[in-house]
Amino acid sequence: MAEIENVVIIGSGPAGWTAAIYAARADLRPLVCIGVPKSSPAIVLPGGQLMLTTEVENYPGFPDGITGPDMMADFQKQAERFGTRIRGNDIVSCDFSEKPFKLETNKGETILAKAVIIATGATANWMGLENEMRLARSGGGVSACAVCDGALPAFRDQPLAVVGGGDSALEEASYLTKFASKVYVIHRRDEFRASKAMQKRIFASANAEPLWNKVVVDVLGDDVITGVLLKDTVTGEESTLDLRGLFVAIGHTPTTEFLDGTGIELDDAKYIQLKTRSSKTNIPGVFAAGDVADSVYRQAVSAAGMGCIAALDAEHYLSALSD
Ligand code: NAP
Repeated sequence: MAEIENVVIIGSGPAGWTAAIYAARADLRPLVCIGVPKSSPAIVLPGGQLMLTTEVENYPGFPDGITGPDMMADFQKQAERFGTRIRGNDIVSCDFSEKPFKLETNKGETILAKAVIIATGATANWMGLENEMRLARSGGGVSACAVCDGALPAFRDQPLAVVGGGDSALEEASYLTKFASKVYVIHRRDEFRASKAMQKRIFASANAEPLWNKVVVDVLGDDVITGVLLKDTVTGEESTLDLRGLFVAIGHTPTTEFLDGTGIELDDAKYIQLKTRSSKTNIPGVFAAGDVADSVYRQAVSAAGMGCIAALDAEHYLSALSD
C-alpha cells in the first residue's frame, strides 16, 4: 500500500511552488508533481508559462528583472529548502470520489493524498505557425503576454501588433499604445468581439489601428521579428507588415482536461470554479490556485498569492481532519 500524502500539488508554476513553500513550512511535507518536459505529450509544462517568458520585470522584489526560468528555479529551490518533495510526473486522471484521493500518473502509478492543490495553469493559444513558435521560444519579439513583455526596451517606440479581437487583445493593444510608435490590431473579422468600452478605447487611441479581415500566415525574421505576412480573409490578397513585436491574444486554454469525470465544477470556459475568497473547489479537500482557476488576472504574482491561499486552506482542512 502506497504512503498517503498529506498534500499533493499538481503543477510547478508560481502558484504550485508558492503553495509548496507554505505547505512545507507548515511541516506538511508536500509532494509536487511538476509535469514532464514539453517534448513529450505533457499535460503540465514544468515551471509553467514562465518558462516561455524571457524577462520578468513586474514581479516585486526583482528591481533588475529576472528571466522566467531563473525565477522558477529559485521558487523550486526555496520550496525544496523546507522539505518539498518532487516527482517528474504528469497526473493524467484523478479520483476524488473517496478518501484518500487517488491520482494516477503518466507512468501508471497511483498516488494517494488527503488533500490536493491543483495548480496546472492555462496555456496561451497560439496561431500554430512554425516561425511564431520559434521566435516566441527564443525571445525574438513574439509573445502571448503584453503586460509581461510589452514594456521591454526592444519594443519602445517600435511598430507592434496584437492578434485577436477579444477583450484580451484590445486590453493588450491599449497597454502597448503607451510604449509603441504604432499598435496594429490584426483581426480575422470586420468587428471586434470585445466589450464596447474596450473598443471605444482603441478607436480613440491616436496610435492604434485595427486591420480588419486579416490573418497572419507567417512571421518574418531570423533572430528577431521583422514583420508578418498577412492574408485578407475576404479577398485572399497577401501583404507584408513591418513590425518589431507581435503579441498573440487569441484566448487561453486552462489545463483541466485531466479532471474530466471527477465532479470538479468548471465554468463554461473550463476554468475551475472556486468558492468566494478562497481556494476551495466544490469538493472538500481539493483546492485550486493560479491560472487554472483565474481567467482574468493571469499574472505570476497573482498566481503566487493564490498558491499561498491554497496552502493555508489545505493546512486548515488537514488540521480539522486530525482533530
Ligand atoms: P476570446 O474572448 O475568446 O477572444 C479571442 C479572440 O481571438 C477572438 O476575437 C477570436 O476571433 C480570435 N481568435 C481565436 N482564434 C484565432 C485564430 N486562430 N486566429 C486569429 N484569431 C483568433 O478570448 P480573450 O480575449 O482572451 O477573453 C477571454 C475571456 O476573458 C472573455 O470572456 C473576456 O471577456 C474576458 N476578459 C475580460 C477582460 C476585462 O474585462 N478587462 C480582459 C481580458 C479578458 P473571433 O472574434 O473571430 O472569434
